[in-house]
Amino acid sequence: MSGRSVVVVAVFAPLRQTFDYRLPKKFQSVDNLIGTRVLVPFGRSTRVGVVLDRKSSSEVAQEKLKALVELLDDHPLLDGENLKLARWAARYYHHPLGEVIATMLPTRLRRRRSLPPVKPHAWQITASGKQGLAALGRNAGRQKEVLRLLGSGPFAPKALASLEFAWRPVIKRLVAKAWIEQIDCDTAPVPNAPVEPGVVLTKEQNNAAQMIIESFSAFKAIVLQGVTGSGKTEVYLAAVECCLDRGGQSLVLVPEIGLTKQLVERFQARFGDRVGVIHSGLTDLERASTWVLCMHREVRVLIGTRSAVWVPMPDLALVVVDEEHDQSYKQQEGFRYSARDIATVRAQQGGFPVVLGSATPSLESLANVERGKYARAVISSRPRDIPMPLISCVDVRGLELTAGLSDALIDAIRTHLDRGEQALLFLNRRGYSPLLICRNCGEPQRCDQCDAYVVFHKALGVTRCHHCDRQWHVNRRARCCEEANIAQIGLGTERIEEAITELFPDKRVRRLDRDSVRRQGYYEEVITAVAGGEVDILIGTQMVAKGLDFEGVTLVGVVDADSRLYSVDFRADERLAQLLLQVAGRAGRTQTQGRVLIQTHHPHHPVLRKIIDDGYNAYAEAALRERKQAGLPPYSAMVIIRAESAKPTGALDFLRQARGLLVEHAVARVEVSYPIPALMERRAGKYRALVVIRASKRSHTGELISDHLERLEDLARQARVRWSLDIDPQDTL
Ligand code: ADP
Ligand code: ZN
Repeated sequence: MSGRSVVVVAVFAPLRQTFDYRLPKKFQSVDNLIGTRVLVPFGRSTRVGVVLDRKSSSEVAQEKLKALVELLDDHPLLDGENLKLARWAARYYHHPLGEVIATMLPTRLRRRRSLPPVKPHAWQITASGKQGLAALGRNAGRQKEVLRLLGSGPFAPKALASLEFAWRPVIKRLVAKAWIEQIDCDTAPVPNAPVEPGVVLTKEQNNAAQMIIESFSAFKAIVLQGVTGSGKTEVYLAAVECCLDRGGQSLVLVPEIGLTKQLVERFQARFGDRVGVIHSGLTDLERASTWVLCMHREVRVLIGTRSAVWVPMPDLALVVVDEEHDQSYKQQEGFRYSARDIATVRAQQGGFPVVLGSATPSLESLANVERGKYARAVISSRPRDIPMPLISCVDVRGLELTAGLSDALIDAIRTHLDRGEQALLFLNRRGYSPLLICRNCGEPQRCDQCDAYVVFHKALGVTRCHHCDRQWHVNRRARCCEEANIAQIGLGTERIEEAITELFPDKRVRRLDRDSVRRQGYYEEVITAVAGGEVDILIGTQMVAKGLDFEGVTLVGVVDADSRLYSVDFRADERLAQLLLQVAGRAGRTQTQGRVLIQTHHPHHPVLRKIIDDGYNAYAEAALRERKQAGLPPYSAMVIIRAESAKPTGALDFLRQARGLLVEHAVARVEVSYPIPALMERRAGKYRALVVIRASKRSHTGELISDHLERLEDLARQARVRWSLDIDPQDTL
């Protein structure tokens, strides 16, 4: 039997080719092999891969053709659409197809693990559990709460998620005591959350929703530009509802830290159990379960961060990318894809609309509006006549500051708190002080492994490098002098927290940054406390800039806008404008007009002036003109080749050769820069460098790279450097 006995497999390995395998007799009767996972011999071991095609013969000689070892799934995991998207991404990003397909799967399914059951399990209370509940003492509050909940019927994990604490360990203890037992979810009633009706949309919201709804069943990219608090989420909800009514599935992408319980709750209140969530805080198994539920059409609305863009949804008919300008949509290592761009291509291939929502759309998206490729819907004001916050600068030149805080800002905080309102202070630097200098010799204290200075963390009693995460005890002897005399320079959030606590001893102060949220549940705890009015002053990094809706916050203070004003990255201005307007948007979400104070030594800086005096659109128009003149993205295609090596000149040497190869073959109008060391040349002990390729057309950079990919790989292998391609880089340093 020779009929169609060869399969083409994308193996999960960093190799830019597919492999043929012989299909053993026992599997030949199986149809539907395309899109299923298989185990195949690979080198001396085996690997997982996905079947791409089935054919009757191979160019590989019969005796060399190895046999497939095992089929891992009964049904395909990926359909034709999914594989088409994977092929597109592999071509566009010049990334091995096997690795692209592996990225589409949840971690668990990249290995030889079986599919999680479609119906998750549930738990119910046992007879001894009922007796136990009555006998439980005071100290078992959590066990009691779980038992009480289960007492009213068996419940699945989804319903237990309403508990405000980590309930899994409690469940484990209760199962061990046989007070509760696991049952199949089929017998458990699906708790149907009450479905709340939506608000009445304003005229602008309604126009935006109509524009989306009218383009159902055909591709259209719509930039939904609505000022902060304008009710973009309500527009998404209306569009998703309409999509559900037509039998479609919807995908809502949100930035890494924009995925709050607040947002998920709004979707669940409206659509109940049809909503699924995928983010990095879940276990592998939880992510895989939701993935499978989407594939089986059970989850109808998926809310997720970057990787959710790949989840198979056979009825997908609408994608929303919230805060589309956010940097977290770009994966910054390995397979460097942009989830926003993948979402758009997915919509194009599937023939349905994609909504790119933001108060401050990326210049890329605005350029596409300008070119007529994307449509735009605008929401220019907040509903219910809620005013936009008033933004102004505090010129701190020559002023006496208290731990970086001007009297103007301190007085404003006092005034707002006296009125019973809340204040938010934003500083994009964590730790206590970002620089330690020896007062004897002037030496800054550096990391051993990076070209970077260490940051002092007072509460932990350590200095830490924020680039490689190494840390040292504060009393580590300084290398510079025998008797070093270390002074702390500059401010981090920890220092601001200390100063604020001294200035406002009777106020409730909390801090949100990457250090404080290490404790599980802390982020949600603080958000809930702020929303409930139990916090007077919230201090935080970017973490507080996005997506949060606090009605009581009327004052936002930006402690230091200056560190970002003079960066060499061509996108620095755009990021600053977006960040400032996003933070500002946290202020005044009720009738009281919010106030935003930006402390700066450069109150006349053109970016600050533009966004404060003329607004984001005026800023964006000017910035786009500049980019056009300079031939920068979005008016050119850009690719960065990065390399790193343990040898000081390893990366530069490799890139010199790579450049030589490329310029020799580059057509006119493709520019290949000389290799330059990365801004932070040494990081975690590796020396890093890069080459920037630019062309007016994407096809030019694309062809140049694909034509020379193999040679580049050979060169890198010989030079023993790690290298990567960054297509449409977000960060060029
Ligand atoms: P965005 O997503 O643009 O930041 P949201 O959708 O979160 O804005 O809306 C901000 C606030 O305004 C929310 O509390 C929301 O419930 C409320 N809101 C939005 N649209 C309306 C409307 N049409 N009528 C009444 N309240 C609304
Ligand atoms: Zn370091």
